[in-house]
Amino acid sequence: MSGGWAAKELAERGLRTLVLEAGRMITPERDYLMDTPAYEFPYRGLGDPKGTAEKFKIQRRSVGFSEATKQFFVDDRELPYNTAPGTDFSWLRSRMLGGRSILWGRMTFRMSDLDFTANLRDGVGIDWPLRHADLAPWYEYVERFVGVSGEALGLDYLPDSHFLPPMQLTCAEEQVKAGLTKAYGGRRIMTIGRTAVLTQPIHGRAACHYCNSCERGCSTFSYFNSVHATLPAAMKTGRCTIRPFSIVHSLAYDDRTGKATGVRIIDANTHEAIELKAKVIFLCASTLESARILLNSATAGQPTGLGNASDQLGRNLMDHIKGAGASGRVEGLDDKTSFGRRPTGVYIPRFRNLDARSHQTDFIRGYGYQGGAGGRGPLWSSAAGTPGFGADFKRGLKHAIGGWGFSMSGFAECLPNPENRMQIDPTLKDAWGIPTLKISAKWGENELRLHKDMAEQAGEMLEAAGVKNVSINRGTPPPMGQTNHEMGAARMGRSPKTSVLNAWNQVWDAKNVFVTDGAAMVSSSCVNPSLTYMALTARAAAYAVSRLKRNEL
Ligand SMILES: Cc1cc2nc3c(=O)[nH]c(=O)nc-3n(C[C@H](O)[C@H](O)[C@H](O)COP(=O)(O)OP(=O)(O)OC[C@H]3O[C@@H](n4cnc5c(N)ncnc54)[C@H](O)[C@@H]3O)c2cc1C
Ligand code: SF4
Repeated sequence: MSGGWAAKELAERGLRTLVLEAGRMITPERDYLMDTPAYEFPYRGLGDPKGTAEKFKIQRRSVGFSEATKQFFVDDRELPYNTAPGTDFSWLRSRMLGGRSILWGRMTFRMSDLDFTANLRDGVGIDWPLRHADLAPWYEYVERFVGVSGEALGLDYLPDSHFLPPMQLTCAEEQVKAGLTKAYGGRRIMTIGRTAVLTQPIHGRAACHYCNSCERGCSTFSYFNSVHATLPAAMKTGRCTIRPFSIVHSLAYDDRTGKATGVRIIDANTHEAIELKAKVIFLCASTLESARILLNSATAGQPTGLGNASDQLGRNLMDHIKGAGASGRVEGLDDKTSFGRRPTGVYIPRFRNLDARSHQTDFIRGYGYQGGAGGRGPLWSSAAGTPGFGADFKRGLKHAIGGWGFSMSGFAECLPNPENRMQIDPTLKDAWGIPTLKISAKWGENELRLHKDMAEQAGEMLEAAGVKNVSINRGTPPPMGQTNHEMGAARMGRSPKTSVLNAWNQVWDAKNVFVTDGAAMVSSSCVNPSLTYMALTARAAAYAVSRLKRNEL
C-alpha cells in the first residue's frame, strides 16, 4: 500500500524509480477473482482445512483468508518466525505486487489531534513530531486520488476526509442509529463506514456495483489498491520500473558518509545475491519487514541495526485489540429488505476519554465499533437449508428469510510499550537464508481493560437503542498482529535519542533512507491506520525530492 504511493510520488516528481517487489506481479485480468462463482473453487469457497494447515498455519488466522484469497497470503513454511515463550503474534503477510492493499477492508479514517497529542498528554511513549494540521493537506491529497466515500460529521476527534457521497444505511441501521442518538443525546453516534470504495467514477476507475467481493480483487477497479491505482500512475510517467521476485535483504551503508549506498536483494527464483545502487531509498515493506531490513543492515558503526542509535528499532510494536462487541435482533422491520451487497459497514466513533465528561479512571484512550445490520435481503446464507430452486425461489427468499440482526465489534487503541519488540533471531532464517524475527509482544493491562469495556458498552448501547435479545461477545482477544494493523518498530520522533525517524520519516542516521509504512507510527489511535501511512508517504516523498534537488540528501 505505502510502496505504491512512494513509487507514484517519486516518479511523478521526476525521479527514476525502481520498485523492488519480493513477490510476483499481479495482473488484474488473471489474478482478480471477483467474478469467480463458488462452484469454480474446488471446495466451493469453503476452503480445505487439511491443505492449508501447514502452508497457511498463521495466515489462515486472518479474517481475509479464504479459498478465494489464499493466493494473496504468504506460505508460512517459507517465512517462519519465532515468538518468545508465553507470547504469540500473528504476522499476517502478502508477498506480491500490491501487498495487502488487495486484501484490505478499506475502512479509511484520519487521525485527529486527540491522537497526535495522546502520548504527550498521558506521558506514554514519546510525542508525535507532527499534528493534524501538518498532515491535513497530505490526507486530502491522498483522499482525492484514493476516493473515500463517507459522511462528513464535523467532529474534531474524527476529522472529515474529502468525501465522495456516502453509501446508505439500511433501515435496521437507521433504526439503531436513531435509538442510540436518543439514548445518548448525540454523545454516541453512528455513521456509515468511511470507505476507500468509489461511489462515483474518478481517475478512470468505475463506481462500485455492490458485489462485495473486494478482497478477491475488483475487476472494475472500484476500491483503492496499489495495483490498479498508484502503480499505474507511477508507470505512466515512464520513469518507474517494477522488479518482481526481488527480496530486499538489507541496505548497504557507508559509515563515512552516513548514507545508504544501495539495496541488497536476493532473487526469489535463483537465490542470487545482487546489490543495487540508489540515491534515495523508501522502505515500505510493511511494519515488521521494514524494521527487519533495518535490523539486518547493521554495520561496524551501527552494530545493532541501521538507525538504531536510540535502541528503539524493533520496539513499541502495536496493533488494535479486537474481538469484543455485541449483537441482537432489530424488530418491526420484517416487511422491509435491502438490495445489493454494500462493501462496508457502519462506524460508531470513539466516545471514551474525549473530554472531562467522558473521562475514565480505569483506562486511557478509547475504541470505535464497526458493524452493521444483516439477516435479511442480501444475506442469502440465512436461507441455507431452505428447500427450493430457480428464480421464483430466489424472489421468495428476499421476503421470507429471517429477521434483521445487528452486530458491532470494537477496535481499541494499543499503547506503545518498548518491551513489545522484535529482534533478529540468532539462528532462524527464511527460505532465502535471510535472518528472520523473534517477536515478543503481548497486550498490556490498558488494552485488556479497553477490551472489557468495549464488550460491556456494546451490550449496553444495543439495549439502550432498543435492540432485542442482545448477546455480548466478551471473547478472548486474539494475539497481537491479528487485526493486521501492526505499527511501531521504527517510530518517528523529535530527537535521535528516542526515535528512529525524524518528522519527515527520514532515518536520523541515514538521511537518504525513509521509512513510511506502519513502522513509523508513534501511537496507534483506534482508527484503521492505512490512510495515515499513505499520507505520511506522500508527504515524505515530496520532502525527499525537494531535498534531493537541493543536493541535501
Ligand atoms: C483482511 C485485511 C483487512 C484490512 N482492513 C483494513 C482496513 O479496513 N483499513 C485499514 O486501514 N487497513 C486495513 N488492513 C491493513 C492494511 O492492509 C495494511 O495496513 C496496509 O496494507 C499496510 O501497507 P504496507 O505498505 O505497510 O504493507 P503491505 O500492503 O503489506 O505491502 C508490503 C509490500 O512489500 C513487499 N515486501 C515485503 N517484504 C519485502 C522484502 N523483503 N523485499 C521486497 N518487498 C517486500 C510485499 O510483497 C508487499 O508488496 C487490512 C489488512 C487485511 C489483510
Ligand atoms: S463491492 Fe464494489 S469495490 Fe468491491 S469488488 Fe464489488 S464492485 Fe469492486
